Amino acid sequence: MTHPAQPKASHFINGEYVEDTAGTPIPVIYAATGEQIATVYAATPAIVEQALSTAKAAQKEWAKMTGTERGRVLRHAADIMRERNHDLSVLETYDTGKPLQETLVADATSGADALEYFGGLAASLTGEHIPLGEDWVYTKREALGLCVGIGAWNYPTQIACWKGAPALACGNSMVFKPSETTPLCALKVAEILIEAGAPAGVFNVVQGMGEVGGALVTDPRVDKVSLTGSVPTGKKVYAAAAEGMKHVTMELGGKSPLIIFDDADIDNAVGGAINGNFYSSGQVCSNGTRVFVQKGIKEKFLARLAERTGNAILGDPMDEATSFGPMVTENQMNIVLGYIEKGKEEGARLICGGKRADMDGYFIEPTVFADVTDDMTIAREEIFGPVMSVLDFDTEEEVVARANDTEFGLSAGVFTKDFTRAHRVIGNLEAGSCFINSYNDAPVEAPFGGVKASGVGRENSKEAIKHFSQVKSVYVRMGDVEAAF
Ligand code: NAD
Repeated sequence: MTHPAQPKASHFINGEYVEDTAGTPIPVIYAATGEQIATVYAATPAIVEQALSTAKAAQKEWAKMTGTERGRVLRHAADIMRERNHDLSVLETYDTGKPLQETLVADATSGADALEYFGGLAASLTGEHIPLGEDWVYTKREALGLCVGIGAWNYPTQIACWKGAPALACGNSMVFKPSETTPLCALKVAEILIEAGAPAGVFNVVQGMGEVGGALVTDPRVDKVSLTGSVPTGKKVYAAAAEGMKHVTMELGGKSPLIIFDDADIDNAVGGAINGNFYSSGQVCSNGTRVFVQKGIKEKFLARLAERTGNAILGDPMDEATSFGPMVTENQMNIVLGYIEKGKEEGARLICGGKRADMDGYFIEPTVFADVTDDMTIAREEIFGPVMSVLDFDTEEEVVARANDTEFGLSAGVFTKDFTRAHRVIGNLEAGSCFINSYNDAPVEAPFGGVKASGVGRENSKEAIKHFSQVKSVYVRMGDVEAAF
């Protein structure tokens, strides 16, 4: 019997599901059981061509609609997503293995927020009037054209919406390629947009590995590429986009610092460290995986952290009581287990976890290492799994320098009751998305993105509009033209 997660077909182009079984089969594995629940096929060159030519043609008409009309479609799509939140959350859980307890509140809901927010902004994307005596200049905010979105596997619904919603609000069309690991949810986003009234071809989904992504990025008809992925992939995609002088947004990896001063409220700080390391089993780009704890509260912090981490409920992700799910794939589990071994070998002190959980599926116990030093592998490389490194520090000056000593710069957090210090420390940290007495909040109203190797551009907020549109300026002369001859 066909599993309920199996989509009607692999791709969604020009308003309908499209199949081409000549493409490489991509098995979809449910991470909680290891069972294959669906198959999709990578896009063949014919499918890529169909998606790009359709999106190119659809964009012109979409951009001619008023912002109010485009916004209405996006807001209607947001309503449909919220009505179907339960089913979409179940699909997100099948796609990623994340527990339903999380997907019910963080995926389709976050996607709907983006559709609603950018739907609301669409009608207010105006230019300026710049008076110059009798003459004047006016500016227009125009769409870029055809945009390509490429997703990572941790938030398949959210990533499709965070890219699709601002792109469409500005009058662009999009071809979106989900991660080959989680290909299911973006298809539902495409289906819902059509149901909400988006013209066929405005938002298309094609499946495939890096090769399909590469074919999209290098096509001369594409005006912009927005990638969520790792730094090595980001470097390749950024370089390929530069060849064609295309706009880019790069949302890449991180190894973010979370700094806890000894005056912090311990339970809030522990809560921040848990949210910043164990949500989605640690598969979150902005995670605060280097937890710097001031020496005065170190042992108290570790004791409380171990106690609360022991309350994690590992189990069937479809059971709403489960609060901690598996790694997305067996491969990702093995990568993370490799890092845990490195942590042990290099002399970090294991506080809790540290091994694969004794159950079906790709579960790793939430793991905390203490006495981690700056040069250890687990403190330098992005692990993308439930492995928290706790490091000690003495002074503010020292911790800021150590926190910044990384190629990454996605996020940073600070816990302290001293507000002057909180703002000063955040001001000195090299990171794009920061938190004071909190960690990992990502409301659509706030810009999201990194500095240094963690990326360029910003998603969400009014900033995203700037990255999906361009300004045309028009000089208007009222008098005669003076010329030298
Ligand atoms: P990945 O870099 O392996 O793949 C990302 C996407 O790029 C996939 O869809 C993949 O098929 C595609 N791709 C790979 N090679 C390509 C190429 N040459 N040309 C075009 N496309 C190509 O990343 P992943 O393993 O899916 O996700 C994990 C990484 O993503 C982590 O580093 C994580 O930090 C990062 N991430 C960042 C954010 C953010 O917003 N900053 C969010 C989630 C994940």
